[in-house]
Amino acid sequence: MREVVVPLAQRSYTIAIGEGLLDRRDLLAPIVAGRQVAIVSNVTVAPLYAARLRAALEPDADCVIEVALPDGEAHKHWGTLNAIFDALLEHRFDRSAILVALGGGVVGDMTGFAAAVYQRGIDFIQVPTTLLAQVDSSVGGKTGINHPLGKNMIGAFHQPRLVLADVGCLATLPERELSAGLAEVIKHGAIADAAYLDAVERALPALLARDPGALADTVARSCEIKAGVVGSDERESGLRAILNFGHTFGHAIEAGLGYGEWLHGEAVGAGMVMAADLSRRLGLLDAAAAGRLRDAIAAAGLPVRGPAWPADRYVELMSVDKKAERGTPRFVLLEGLGRACVRRAPDDAVRETLAACAP
Ligand code: NAD
Ligand code: MG
Repeated sequence: MREVVVPLAQRSYTIAIGEGLLDRRDLLAPIVAGRQVAIVSNVTVAPLYAARLRAALEPDADCVIEVALPDGEAHKHWGTLNAIFDALLEHRFDRSAILVALGGGVVGDMTGFAAAVYQRGIDFIQVPTTLLAQVDSSVGGKTGINHPLGKNMIGAFHQPRLVLADVGCLATLPERELSAGLAEVIKHGAIADAAYLDAVERALPALLARDPGALADTVARSCEIKAGVVGSDERESGLRAILNFGHTFGHAIEAGLGYGEWLHGEAVGAGMVMAADLSRRLGLLDAAAAGRLRDAIAAAGLPVRGPAWPADRYVELMSVDKKAERGTPRFVLLEGLGRACVRRAPDDAVRETLAACAP
């Protein structure tokens, strides 16, 4: 088992990473002993893994209840959140109760937000079951739900007490979801650690074959990188922006196609190719490095071209991106593999990139 500590002073917590952690009563007991516990999952993940988690929790907890939410981003809203509150109130859960999020980022974000506001804030544990959730959404404490007018517009920062990333759960993950998680993994290497990017490139066949050792190494290093960035910028005032590498273009693709058409990681895959191309046009990155990144993204099973829209459409979609400042989007660019910076880019260079990467 590997451990990564997210350093946030009195809110610091541990991410435990390995195979079979769902069954590790010893890891859970120190936090859940004597407490009311609610496992919050969804109708896809609960039948696969909730019984094992319950068995690990039950001997030490005061009681364990289960809440199974409907599956999907479309359900990440107030109505679903209320189903969690209904269950907690019906079972008279008090302020010392603890929630355990068992699922992907959707379950994690909703459960974390429920914990942030139930009786003005209770503890929660993350048990992420997608690669994306293990390397990204379970690290950093952002929780929330969607509003009809915008994704993740309602939320809170609320850090978990513990994250158990059981890479064994990834065995049942659909292939597209696995690749989507790899987009964020490649991103971590690209923005922060060239040696890690090398290692991920070499490990891609093993990762796609869901080799537990390769997955655990990768989840651990990605969590370290994200935790390092978040630890120095918990509330997203500066450095944390580099985690948006590939996301300005990616969000335009997601918004233009309608959310859900491409998975987020797929849009980020094509978006990173675009951001690397733009970095090259601005003289920050050499062509060989941009080509290598593109090859790694393709080898991970991700798209490397955006939808063939006119540049105007992309520019319009990017100007409404929430990270845009007064309409001019800033881009996370690479000054070499492993080093990111945030810059405004001249409009003509952006259009050249779009012509080349979304032909
Ligand atoms: P998801 O939670 O929708 O999971 C993807 C699909 O895989 C779902 O159908 C799910 O039921 C299924 N699934 C999950 N684990 C499985 C398993 N082990 N076996 C089989 N099927 C499984 O999607 P996601 O990519 O994990 O998360 C996306 C969400 O995360 C978005 O809502 C996004 O906004 C959020 N997010 C949050 C943060 C953050 O910092 N809080 C960061 C990135 C993304
Ligand atoms: Mg992302």
